Amino acid sequence: MTIPGDADQRRAIAPVVCYPPDTLTPPDLDLYKSARSTAQKISETLIPPRQARTFRANAGQFFRISSIDGPQVGDLNLHNAHDLNERFYSGKTRALHGTHITTGQHMWSTIPYLRPMATIIEDTLNWYGIDEFGGSVHDVIGTRCDPYTHMALNHDHYHHCCHSNLTRALAAETGLAPKDAELLVHDVLNVFMCTGFTRDTGQYFMKASPVRPGDYIEFLAEIDLLGNLSACPGGDCSATHSSDTAKCHPLLVEVFEPVPDVLKNRSEPPLNGYDRTHGL
Ligand SMILES: [Zn+2]
Repeated sequence: MTIPGDADQRRAIAPVVCYPPDTLTPPDLDLYKSARSTAQKISETLIPPRQARTFRANAGQFFRISSIDGPQVGDLNLHNAHDLNERFYSGKTRALHGTHITTGQHMWSTIPYLRPMATIIEDTLNWYGIDEFGGSVHDVIGTRCDPYTHMALNHDHYHHCCHSNLTRALAAETGLAPKDAELLVHDVLNVFMCTGFTRDTGQYFMKASPVRPGDYIEFLAEIDLLGNLSACPGGDCSATHSSDTAKCHPLLVEVFEPVPDVLKNRSEPPLNGYDRTHGL
């Protein structure tokens, strides 16, 4: 390997942010929080350990994901309730907001829809920040634990990875065959998971989640949503996943309906305005 003479100068060039979000309209968090303060709970869904369950939250409703019995991370999928092809786009959410998301940031949908699906209005782990290892909470850098990677690495069948849990739950909700449902399962928001990249090798790492019972993350549904949440077999993801080894706990999803008209000035994000001609 030949190292060029100006290697240090090239490395010393300052980075620029790829997608400065300054031109995005910021969410009206004061309005959302005010609406949430008088909203009424209309449903709840318990996610058993090593399982997933679906839930629905309509545009303008709120949904909260809570840690209840013990530290537990969750893998969250979102679909447009009326078009399952419009689903959460982890990669572009990461590009727009960063590796981990928190209050005031959106979960964006896939191309060609590319619009906010949900907005985080409260996050009790917001205090965590970025730790000395480069770790933070609620990542959009992981994918979801899945039986194919597990097979490649361990030559073993395991059926309670988040990918399989989400597949079973989506199949049960939609009536789709599991092999069709799994094609709609997508990279997740890793709720409560503490992750980063190692500084020396750039490898994806996890560490014990700082979440404790009572912690929650809460969202405004920007469009009608079908949610799907898996209580990861990794538990708090302090040691292992993709097995029955880790201690696991349930998660709770609650949906809240605001009082009539309190959000009447909120407008649903339109489909992305690009004309889709691609220059042809
Ligand atoms: Zn998982």
